[in-house]
Amino acid sequence: MLEPLVDTDGAPFWRYAARGELRVQTCAGCGEPRFPPRPCCPHCRSFASEWTRTSGRGRIWSYVVPHPPLLPDYAEHAPYHVVLVELAEAPGIRLVGNLVPEAGAPLGSLPPGRLRIGARVQAVFDGGGSSPCPPQWVLERP
Ligand code: ZN
Repeated sequence: MLEPLVDTDGAPFWRYAARGELRVQTCAGCGEPRFPPRPCCPHCRSFASEWTRTSGRGRIWSYVVPHPPLLPDYAEHAPYHVVLVELAEAPGIRLVGNLVPEAGAPLGSLPPGRLRIGARVQAVFDGGGSSPCPPQWVLERP
């Protein structure tokens, strides 16, 4: 499986994710959340920011079920669910992730019929490994 590339601006996101927290970078000047992380606020151009903890709740904004041909690291997991989740506290921010029945479950272990645009989801983290752990998503009402 390909691992996330951790850069300087995004490093706090991954540190919080390792603790099971979904946080977004927020401008300390105007309060606007932004993603992906970057040094300057696109709204007020402030360089001051903080990391705001979210509830981890959101809604499926869109999804796709990839099938081969895929990159070799992904082909063995297909078909699986890739969701685009709009965060409850920051509707302008949409995160890409996998929809699974529970944290750490194999990709594609959720029946495809469960996917629905607008479904409420919750971020979960499988912190068992040593590599950066992206959030996964579970349905609030399985
Ligand atoms: Zn700002």
